[in-house]
Amino acid sequence: MKVEVVETIKNDNIDMIRFVLEDVSLELANGFRRIILSEVPCMAVDEVIFLENDSPLFDEIIAHRLGLIPLKSDIENYNLPNQCDCGGVGCTLCRAELTCTIQADLDGTLVKSKDLISTDPNIVPVNDKIIIAKLQKGSSLEFEAYTRLGIGRDHAKWQPVSTVGFGNFPDVTIDSKKCQSCSNQCIAGDRCPESLIKFGGNKAKLIKEYWKECTVCKSCAKYCPEEAIEVNEVSNKFIFVVEGTGALPIKTILIKALEIFQEKVEEFQGNLANKELFGLEFIILSFSFYNL
Ligand SMILES: [Zn+2]
Repeated sequence: MKVEVVETIKNDNIDMIRFVLEDVSLELANGFRRIILSEVPCMAVDEVIFLENDSPLFDEIIAHRLGLIPLKSDIENYNLPNQCDCGGVGCTLCRAELTCTIQADLDGTLVKSKDLISTDPNIVPVNDKIIIAKLQKGSSLEFEAYTRLGIGRDHAKWQPVSTVGFGNFPDVTIDSKKCQSCSNQCIAGDRCPESLIKFGGNKAKLIKEYWKECTVCKSCAKYCPEEAIEVNEVSNKFIFVVEGTGALPIKTILIKALEIFQEKVEEFQGNLANKELFGLEFIILSFSFYNL
């Protein structure tokens, strides 16, 4: 397996990475994608106790909004509730508390994520500007919100990424000898939605590193009157895009996903070694492995 990082972007607390994965089957690449999406844990609000709510929103709506606020997470020092010594009841090793006490002095007072006071300075909202509710003068909003680790398979609020996807690596070739009959412009190049083909000197040319933007839509090949363009997908080579919510650094997400993948493979190997597998039993085990 080869990995080549194409691009990394850090904007405030949000990380994004694009990388090329080579010598990997489609199934394995998709398994990795699904683990990033649904198995890497992060923190989210899971329980809210309202002491005062004069806002026009029901308690349930505010609780739902709180759940969807991305929180900076600490997956090293907190336990998943089902793996904690407290049995999931809630202790300092598996949950942190956010409190909010706001009394509005003015009409239209906005309660924002910056008003959430955390018991742990490492577990705070990723962004301070997320609006929770709007209060009238004299109204109050007071609650205690408990955050815990969870995984995206149980609820989307525990997904550490907003985007994770991959596409085929493109292989586009242009036979420029056939371009001679198109003297002024390249009809096929004009059809490319990403403008990846330029025309000059009676030749159509791909721009440098066209593969970064090419979506393999094949419009160029379809509309080329001379059939000079051929578009293929490179087998077992994919371009991955991962964008975090800010809950965890991208590097942490990818390393954790690989660790989880490794654990699953080892579990599968262990099951194979410990069991005599025949017929249906083997098929069931295979399915449990591929439904990562
Ligand atoms: Zn606990």
